Amino acid sequence: MSDAILVIGGGIAGINCAMNVAKYGTKVYLVDDTASIGGMMARLDKTFPTNDCSICIEAPQMYDVDNHENIKILTNTEVRKVKKVNGEFQVRLVTKPKFVDEEKCTGCGACVEACPVSVPDEMDGKIGGKRKLVSMAFPQAVPNVVSVDPACRHGEMRKAGACIGDCKVDCSQCRECPIALCVMACEKEGKKAITHWQSSKNMKIDVKSIVVATGITDAKPVGDLLGYDVYKNVITNAQFERLMNAGGPTAGEIIRPSDSKHAKKIAWIQCAGRGLAEGKGTPYCSKICCMISTKQTIITKEHDPAVETTVFYNDLKAYGKGFWEFYRKAVDNGVDYVRARPYEVFEDPETKNLTLKYEDLESGELEIKEVELLVLASGIISNKRNKKLAKVLKLELDHLGFFKEKNPLTAPLETKVDGIYLCGGATGPIDIAESVVQASAAAMLALQNNLQVKS
Ligand SMILES: Cc1cc2nc3c(=O)[nH]c(=O)nc-3n(C[C@H](O)[C@H](O)[C@H](O)COP(=O)(O)OP(=O)(O)OC[C@H]3O[C@@H](n4cnc5c(N)ncnc54)[C@H](O)[C@@H]3O)c2cc1C
Repeated sequence: MSDAILVIGGGIAGINCAMNVAKYGTKVYLVDDTASIGGMMARLDKTFPTNDCSICIEAPQMYDVDNHENIKILTNTEVRKVKKVNGEFQVRLVTKPKFVDEEKCTGCGACVEACPVSVPDEMDGKIGGKRKLVSMAFPQAVPNVVSVDPACRHGEMRKAGACIGDCKVDCSQCRECPIALCVMACEKEGKKAITHWQSSKNMKIDVKSIVVATGITDAKPVGDLLGYDVYKNVITNAQFERLMNAGGPTAGEIIRPSDSKHAKKIAWIQCAGRGLAEGKGTPYCSKICCMISTKQTIITKEHDPAVETTVFYNDLKAYGKGFWEFYRKAVDNGVDYVRARPYEVFEDPETKNLTLKYEDLESGELEIKEVELLVLASGIISNKRNKKLAKVLKLELDHLGFFKEKNPLTAPLETKVDGIYLCGGATGPIDIAESVVQASAAAMLALQNNLQVKS
């Protein structure tokens, strides 16, 4: 019988859960279906309510789980099949290729530098970040190795300039590539880490408990909501977060997409798309957006106190410890909070500034405001991959796509399958501190279950 625990999702919740379990001497498989652990927190600039640097807090934890003797990290890995036999789970995992030998890659970046082809970075969306065809998920990625874009696999990127010269052989069959620039750069460093022929690997593990920590996704505004799909200078608060981030595509410069000029007048619209019909917006309160925008205004003012910052809101959610004081800090720093219902945005075709029409909810008057950059707090939604995983685990999702708990009051981290537990954004919109608390609790439940299965 195995004593191991499987944690699915390597964000801050999964990392903390894995660490708690490992400290009790139990083996943990920490599985993430992307190239690195870290989740959303690894992409943030600073974190409310303390405004500490996000990656500076998370990177040491990522390093610790990577170096813990009881933790095996499996990235680019999906949970494909789970069968419960005598109280124990038999799990089939599939690791998709990174086209890199993880034992040989040292993350030196020579291949990234050599690759001449840049493509849009999925993370950055409208603010225009780019990544190379061979890239590291982010500088502190764990494992600290690069991945090659699957588009390179069959030589499709030769014409785009990724290789010098022509070749008739399919890369997936060739072990001695003479033309790919990334391969040549790697060999020049004395390594042979790029392996275009790599294929998926299957793995079978037995575990006694499973913790689902698959996290959250930032909602994209649907269509032309408040000008999002129409005007370049209307972005989401996840994109603004990347704009502020020193490790982001603008190296922390708060510039607007239309002309790369520093934005001097910025407005945030809270609850953008909230209450709209399914598929047109986020029908519920995501709980954390008010604090995300408050954080972003404070940091904007830290970058340049002269920037005019306005938050248009209806209900202000300051539900956590220190959150009200955090909001007061923003007000004291000169951030203008306006209780309002914005209903239309239009652009000046010459300046690309945006005029916002809104109803002032205090005075009842219709007002207008011109800004240079508009940030939509469009909410937090469930992870789209939950559907597939729920089927594999034989779990139910709630109507919003988050994992359904056994009982919202008395068993909020348990599921209808004994031995499978939840934590973090897999349960619903949540902040980092709550995710960490839930991760500790889920670890304890999983360890208790392991003991029961043993006896
Ligand atoms: C713009 C923005 C700003 C924010 N700012 C703050 C802040 O300042 N302070 C704060 O407290 N909170 C903030 N948050 C919230 C914070 O990001 C979350 O609380 C936190 O990321 C939740 O952690 P998690 O581990 O549950 O999920 P995630 O961080 O989403 O991690 C989930 C992990 O699971 C992996 N995964 C998903 N599905 C699968 C699958 N099927 N198989 C394997 N792996 C899978 C993902 O790849 C990911 O690595 C912010 C959120 C956003 C969107």
